[in-house]
Amino acid sequence: MEQADRYMSEDPSAIFSIHVGQTFKPYVWKASHDMDFRSECLYCDSETLKGYKVEDEFGNLGRIATCPDCDRVNAKY
Ligand SMILES: [Zn+2]
Repeated sequence: MEQADRYMSEDPSAIFSIHVGQTFKPYVWKASHDMDFRSECLYCDSETLKGYKVEDEFGNLGRIATCPDCDRVNAKY
């Protein structure tokens, strides 16, 4: 289900524990807004995605694109 290849050349870290399709609440994680994407959500009708730099519970850093409407992770980048 990792269908986010359009945003990333390679997975920056296989141990980064946030996954595509997961519901993501930026305020629960150490997330900082990075950039916006003009791209359709894979899971709902939203046409924009928000990119965040995040740190997971193990301290691994990564970047993800999430939907502001349904809060699901669309991609890692
Ligand atoms: Zn969505």
